[in-house]
Amino acid sequence: MYADVIVDISHKNLDKPFSYRIPDKLESVIQTGSKVAIPFGMGNKERFGYVVGKHSDPPKDIRAEQIKEITGLAEKSVNAEENLIALAAFIKEQYGSTMISALKCVLPVKKEIKKREEKMIISKVPVLTLEQGIVEADRKKQRAKVRLLRELLSSDRLSYSLVTGKLNVSSPTVKSLEKEGFLSVEVTENELPFSFREEKEKIPALSEEQEEIINTVTAERREGKAGQYYIYGITGSGKTEVYMHLIEECLKDGKEAILLIPEIALTYQNLLRFYRRFGNKVAVMHSKLTDGEKYEQFKKAKEGKVSIMIGPRSALFAPFQNLGMIIIDEEHESSYKSETMPKFHAREVAFKLGEIANAPVVMGSATPSLESFYRIKKGEIKAFRLSKRLTGGSLPDVHIVDMKEELQNGNRTMFSKKLQTLMEDRLEKGEQTMLFINRRGYSGSVLCRDCGEVIKCPHCDISLSAHRGGILMCHYCGYTTESVKNCPKCGSAKIAGFRAGTEQIEEEIHKRFPQAVVLRMDADTTKKAEDYEAILSKFAQGEADILLGTQMIVKGHDFKGVTLMGILLADTSLSHNDYRAAERTFQLLTQAAGRSGRGDLPGETVIQTYQPEHYAITFAADQDYEGFYEEEIQFREFMEYPPVGHMLSVQFFGPDWERLSRLSLGFAKEVKERIPEFETIKQIGPGKASLGKIKDVYRQVIYYKCSTLQPLIAVKDYMENRIGQISIDKEQIQFDFDPVNTF
Ligand code: ADP
Ligand code: ZN
Ligand code: ZN
Repeated sequence: MYADVIVDISHKNLDKPFSYRIPDKLESVIQTGSKVAIPFGMGNKERFGYVVGKHSDPPKDIRAEQIKEITGLAEKSVNAEENLIALAAFIKEQYGSTMISALKCVLPVKKEIKKREEKMIISKVPVLTLEQGIVEADRKKQRAKVRLLRELLSSDRLSYSLVTGKLNVSSPTVKSLEKEGFLSVEVTENELPFSFREEKEKIPALSEEQEEIINTVTAERREGKAGQYYIYGITGSGKTEVYMHLIEECLKDGKEAILLIPEIALTYQNLLRFYRRFGNKVAVMHSKLTDGEKYEQFKKAKEGKVSIMIGPRSALFAPFQNLGMIIIDEEHESSYKSETMPKFHAREVAFKLGEIANAPVVMGSATPSLESFYRIKKGEIKAFRLSKRLTGGSLPDVHIVDMKEELQNGNRTMFSKKLQTLMEDRLEKGEQTMLFINRRGYSGSVLCRDCGEVIKCPHCDISLSAHRGGILMCHYCGYTTESVKNCPKCGSAKIAGFRAGTEQIEEEIHKRFPQAVVLRMDADTTKKAEDYEAILSKFAQGEADILLGTQMIVKGHDFKGVTLMGILLADTSLSHNDYRAAERTFQLLTQAAGRSGRGDLPGETVIQTYQPEHYAITFAADQDYEGFYEEEIQFREFMEYPPVGHMLSVQFFGPDWERLSRLSLGFAKEVKERIPEFETIKQIGPGKASLGKIKDVYRQVIYYKCSTLQPLIAVKDYMENRIGQISIDKEQIQFDFDPVNTF
């Protein structure tokens, strides 16, 4: 047997492994991921390396007598790199990828960056003068000025890029405030993005419930138990405060912590909170950082300069030497699942990392994933509840409106009578409304009312969306074309956009409520990184009456002024042919419904639906997670879907439909014949993927279901092995375990 060994474990050396012979006596102990001692270079100096692959055929580019032999297995030691390599081996094994691509997933790209000069905005006046400035700017309706001056009230130094980016204050505005003497802009090196006026932050006295969580988890951690915990509580119930205390206890013990937060929740306000509490101990990862900046963050972690890594999925791979805890906020979020190879789930990888580093994993959400609640019920995860909302406000009154009835009563618009009345009322009272369009499926597409033909993209198996100005556009590949006047199939002129996209709804609001100031948030209005927060902060400051948007508006933001939430098309996400459709709909609607009435005034929510009796909708209206769980888990049990059973989707991609069909059929047949455990497996397909073609690449899929995971891993291993043997260069095969999205 031979092993591929990487000597200097870094991203840029991964593609250059060296081949070594494995001595017979070590054959069974040396695994992918093992740390081994090897003779290296001209002088055969002993060095350590990591095994990234094993194979039986000798390497071709080197003569047999020249291949050196592995000296031995290195002693077990603990360091950050070894943890990451073990993690990569787990990812490779569980999710199907090469060791190299698994390693690339966990190791940062090595890139030194020049010390970046950071421009800072520094307050030059006392608080009283700032307050006068705010009153003055408010009177002149200079909203951006107000925003910046308000921030300067609590932080006397602010990062320029954060202000122009996340706060959406333009450079001329900053300049004008500089002229007026409120602030100055200075260039500094490597400074914290915030610094605060008051040295001491007021930390709230903990509630009994919070206290119990912190004490239990910390005590068990100190006993060396790497348990799994769940904090079950709505937004505003004090979860983040608990996380901060748990982290603080870790720091006291000289340990580090990783906090996973979905990208979308990584807002100015959230970051501010952590910087305020932990100062320069915090490092933040997010997708907008360059490779060099990411590398810098990881380097700081490795050198012990920071102790807390906050970010989405990739924060998991912070090379801490002494990891004390992993926290996963909003555990149910589907963005924790990677949608590119290797398709790992950050929660599962976090469990593995917890096991490797002997660190507890703490999760939190108001609507746990079915996976986690199933394990809570089985007693594998210890759950705590935070039962009260600490931020005030009460749960809203929820009205479910049957849109079929509206239609029968002659209302053909997107707005039910109930919603219209309530919107008028809010506009009169000067209170804010949010409108959430649950937009999956056909909304925005162009459809023939006579024959049902839908205009599709010629390169993708997806309908084109109608945009303003008579343009049709594909949201997958960007293809655009002029709108059509007649149906290409039957010639009928009754062809029109199904008016349900955000743009169309915005137009309808303008027509119906011309006095209302509307902000729209969707993929089109948030193309730039900072657009998203700009819209949120404008709305939060009361600069608009109505915020209209897709799911982006429901996640985690607290708007105290909102007293009405309208959910249009609540059930479009139900019709998705996906076993998680009900779960996703329930989560979205629960989050959305709870958006109104967060402030002092009571709130109302209107859910518009064609399926008013569906359990995902009725339980969401009642904010009843457990009721929903009981109903949903029966369906999963009956169908053997995750979390009760396991699923593997094998996805085939290729430019030639015929070849692709043959390939997938061939694989399906072989698996059936060759996998010994096949009788415990259900095979579905091969069939056309639900998106059968994207950018001229066809897609086929085979689904496998099984009550245990191991036989499915055997299917994956078998296929992986076969892919190595046969020559397929035009096609690609990917594996997705317990998929989050249908394929
Ligand atoms: P979550 O993470 O569940 O949304 P947070 O931890 O952000 O909840 O808490 C919501 C708000 O309540 C925050 O402003 C926080 O400072 C405050 N808070 C948290 N714990 C307490 C407490 N024990 N007493 C008073 N206020 C608290
Ligand atoms: Zn037609
Ligand atoms: Zn397209």
